[in-house]
Amino acid sequence: MAKTDFYELLGVSRDVSEGDLKKAYRKQAVKYHPDKNPGNKEAEEKFKEISHAYEVLKDPQKRAAYDRYGHAAFEGGGAGRGPGGMGGFGGGGGGGGFHDPFDIFREVFGGGGGGGGGGGIFEEMFGGGGGGGAGGGQDGADLRYDLEITLVEAAKGVEKELSFRKAMACERCNGSGAEPGSKRVTCPTCGGVGQVRRSGGIITFRQTCPTCGGSGTKIEKVCARCRGEGREAKTAKINVKIPAGVDTGSRLRSVGNGEAGVGGGQPGDLYIVLTVKEHEIFERHGQDLFCEIPIKFTLATLGGTIEVPTLFGKASLKIPAATQSGTTFRLRGKGMPSLRQGGAQGDQLVRVHVEVPKKLSDEQRRLLEEFAKVSGDADQPTEESWFEKAKKFF
Ligand SMILES: [Zn+2]
Ligand SMILES: [Zn+2]
Repeated sequence: MAKTDFYELLGVSRDVSEGDLKKAYRKQAVKYHPDKNPGNKEAEEKFKEISHAYEVLKDPQKRAAYDRYGHAAFEGGGAGRGPGGMGGFGGGGGGGGFHDPFDIFREVFGGGGGGGGGGGIFEEMFGGGGGGGAGGGQDGADLRYDLEITLVEAAKGVEKELSFRKAMACERCNGSGAEPGSKRVTCPTCGGVGQVRRSGGIITFRQTCPTCGGSGTKIEKVCARCRGEGREAKTAKINVKIPAGVDTGSRLRSVGNGEAGVGGGQPGDLYIVLTVKEHEIFERHGQDLFCEIPIKFTLATLGGTIEVPTLFGKASLKIPAATQSGTTFRLRGKGMPSLRQGGAQGDQLVRVHVEVPKKLSDEQRRLLEEFAKVSGDADQPTEESWFEKAKKFF
């Protein structure tokens, strides 16, 4: 079947600008739209063709492919048979990988309109028509709560009470928006259908009824407290469990604790974004905790055991004899827990720095001088390798 050239179909030249292309499509689409040509199969075909043509030409990549390969660029549906790796456009509908022509039309003319001939689009847009107004309503917004916790809380997990303002269901009307005791009546604007027909110049659009929002009913007497909105701003208090192992930037989702919906819409979610405060002693590196501890030079020389603070209480750490300043020891399993189920706990890394006494008593001085004397040459370091290197250098 020979296909008409896309540019010819839309009545434009091959170097048409994007703006002029859109204008040309608008003109043609309005002329051949099934709403304007009820029962006219030829017009419907033409409407589909120009929509497909426009779908291709409005997209710079597809337009380039079409300019190069012609219709062959889009044959074979989404199977990727096209030349030069083209293909795979669209998908979905049966029309050789193209989108529904009414989608293209709606895109150009804005979200409000649709075509009677399409059928499918209507079900999509209006949620199955007047089926008891289930499709009505507007979902509540998601909310964000920034929460700061301590490192200890992050390590052990904590339960927090959050208090914040949000739109909640009105207490007087229970969220219905109707004054207690008043009924819902058939919407006078749409007569209960939920949609209104609106003339958009040449064609008629069907739109969700602005009075009832598509539900087909209207409140007889509006709630005095919320003026029919069904919601009011209130302070919400909720308890959240922060799991052990969270870090700065961790995001927790509390389902349904966002703002209340309107007219039967679902509530939004609450997102809790965490910041873990810096700790005086511990520095966090992923799941490991790092700290620096001073030890006396005598302990470093002779060895011994010290008590080390951890987030989970005190732990004892064995310092072997002849420990040099800057040596790092690892306390296994004393770091941050894993957020993953069954994940291993991190470690605590302890770096010791050896303190030299700043003040000496007479007795300490005497003993150290004695020590220096029996140690031999006081000017030479004891480390053999350093001594060897230094000798070569001089
Ligand atoms: Zn109310
Ligand atoms: Zn209505």
